[in-house]
Amino acid sequence: MFTALFAAILVTFPAESQRLPQTGRTYVIGAASTNRSERLAINGVEVDVYRTGAFLAMVRVQPGTNTLTFTQGTNTLVRRFVVAAPPSGAVRPAPPSPPHNPYADLGIPTNTVFAAKPPPGTPPGNIHVMVDAGHGGSDSGALSPRGMKEKDFNIYQAKALEAALRRAGFRVTMTRTDDSFPALYDRPRRAFREKADIFISIHHNATGVGTNPRDARHSTTYASNEKGLSLARAVQRHVAQAVAPVRDCGAQVKSLAVCRNPAVPSCLVEVDFINLPEGEEASADPVRREKVASAIVMGVLDWLAE
Ligand SMILES: [Zn+2]
Repeated sequence: MFTALFAAILVTFPAESQRLPQTGRTYVIGAASTNRSERLAINGVEVDVYRTGAFLAMVRVQPGTNTLTFTQGTNTLVRRFVVAAPPSGAVRPAPPSPPHNPYADLGIPTNTVFAAKPPPGTPPGNIHVMVDAGHGGSDSGALSPRGMKEKDFNIYQAKALEAALRRAGFRVTMTRTDDSFPALYDRPRRAFREKADIFISIHHNATGVGTNPRDARHSTTYASNEKGLSLARAVQRHVAQAVAPVRDCGAQVKSLAVCRNPAVPSCLVEVDFINLPEGEEASADPVRREKVASAIVMGVLDWLAE
């Protein structure tokens, strides 16, 4: 009864009628039957279907409407999308945006300083870790080939981390436990108000339209200030081992709303890229999820012992 459904071709990106920024090529992701005798083709060019059914292809595109025809066996799917034209005339650079003021953004007193790091030997039960699952609700984040949403990868990984931290004895709170969307600044503001000692945000990555996710795939942990960076370095050292052979891009500094907290050491883990079949499969694997959760706990313990 459901045969037709499983034999269908699913295209996750680009969506029908989607408008893409100016680019000469785009990635195309989706899922199809893994039946080896039924080859998947895009505009007549054969595409590898991964063992999970996911596929990834890079296709050349032109400004204006583009049409892709997907065929596999007797199934056909046509997808139209629009690529923005190059700007005509000189491009005026956008005026620089004023620097963020994390005190004003979070609505906390400007004389706020980082609380003293818990001294080595502090029982974990006296250490409060806030775990943030990125995105949520109407904000799905990135999409995977089989149509899974980053917000869901994030909550599964965050819950595994919550459990691992509790097993290690830490006091843990979550910025969300369901498919809700706490406003971006409410997350670090809550960490400040509830006197968290550590804030860790969980995300999964994806590339821009013109970049092949296979080339870009890496793990990294971001921080936005010195205090956060020492935490990010400790965490990323272990995360990199847990997700190997995914390339390790180390800890990096980036101005991120949830990491600019001037009161709570904060970092944001980008575990893997989900817009390629291998990254989607690994990120959906409960065993890998447990490894990453344990790795983050080890990073937290290292940082506390530094
Ligand atoms: Zn994200």
